[in-house]
Amino acid sequence: MKVERSVIMLNKKVAFIPCKTYQQNEVNQAVQQLLAELGGLAQYIKPGQKVLLKVNLLMKKPPEAAVTTHPALVEALVNQIQALGAKTIIADSPGGPFTKAWLKGIYQETGMVKVAKRTGAELNWNFEQQEFSYPEGRILKHITLAKIVKEADVVISLAKLKTHGFTIYTGAVKNLFGTIPGLLKADYHLRLDDVRDFSDMLVDIAQFVKPTLSIMDAVIAMEGPGPSAGEPKSVGLLAASENPHGLDLACCYIIGLNPEQVPTLQKAIARGLIPKNIRELDIRGIADEEFKPIPFKVPATSRSRHLPIPLPAKLDDFFYKLLRPKPIFIHKKCINCGLCARNCPPQCIEMIASKPQADLTRCIRCFCCQELCPEQAVEIKRSKLSRLIFR
Ligand code: SF4
Ligand code: SF4
Repeated sequence: MKVERSVIMLNKKVAFIPCKTYQQNEVNQAVQQLLAELGGLAQYIKPGQKVLLKVNLLMKKPPEAAVTTHPALVEALVNQIQALGAKTIIADSPGGPFTKAWLKGIYQETGMVKVAKRTGAELNWNFEQQEFSYPEGRILKHITLAKIVKEADVVISLAKLKTHGFTIYTGAVKNLFGTIPGLLKADYHLRLDDVRDFSDMLVDIAQFVKPTLSIMDAVIAMEGPGPSAGEPKSVGLLAASENPHGLDLACCYIIGLNPEQVPTLQKAIARGLIPKNIRELDIRGIADEEFKPIPFKVPATSRSRHLPIPLPAKLDDFFYKLLRPKPIFIHKKCINCGLCARNCPPQCIEMIASKPQADLTRCIRCFCCQELCPEQAVEIKRSKLSRLIFR
């Protein structure tokens, strides 16, 4: 019988431990201290259990690009879990199809194959999916997940701290969008093109998956036009919490984002899953003087939201659509791979003479094209009017 996961969503404990590099010894030690701050890993895992490590493997990029969860963190976790007599499976359904052919190269490039070889951890090759009824969901009344997620006894979200063109920030909660198999994610983008609804859906997913623990790779994070085209930035921290929303609130504070800027935090606050104020969290493992924001460059989209004045819904919608930024394709950087066109939720990108052209009247501004472009050939631009209004 499956053990009921013991997540306490109102848990306010968030632990931080300095970790300046990805040298394996330093990461091992930092992970041990981090988990000790929360009471130790043994309280969550029993011998013989199957523990799924939901890593962020967004795309085929090497660890130093800071796009994906670093393999040194994954290896440290695997070793500690296996020392408790449990099995580990490393899994993600990143952008693109959820197939063996797609995942093989990603596991290789992101360093997961090496982790599996060194530790004996399994890489997930199960591409089945399963639909569940979810009457408590605010946005989703049914949810389709990679089957492996619900088969695991324990799920640990191993997220990467980054800014994000669509949701402004990606961390513990957004990482769980990768439990939705492959191209189904595009359907969710299509159905929920307003970032506020999309973010409420992300909160639904987090509540349904119920990770037992969430851990943030913030040793080297990403700022600017993340989650793939930004710049690596050293933060020198690992963080963890039983509450993925609390972990995100604390990590957003560290990178200088307030909850009003981050729609997933707004939705979690509205549902009572976290306090409004960072001061109400129980921050551990780090001295007060070290728990300070390191301001990050934010994506252009963060200053192009709804007008800061109350307007009737239709007018608000009109201005929102008028002022929102758009994707621009830089053809001289483009290698004609067609990934953007194949993964555009409304299929509004056409490859014309081998180069992408988007029909912006149908574009829902999900910025999946930017997220998945391996060459950083998609930029998100704000209009002059938007720059004038939202400075
Ligand atoms: S813009 Fe990027 S994703 Fe699209 S075809 Fe060019 S290289 Fe590929
Ligand atoms: S063109 Fe880009 S931003 Fe627009 S809908 Fe397609 S993937 Fe999303």
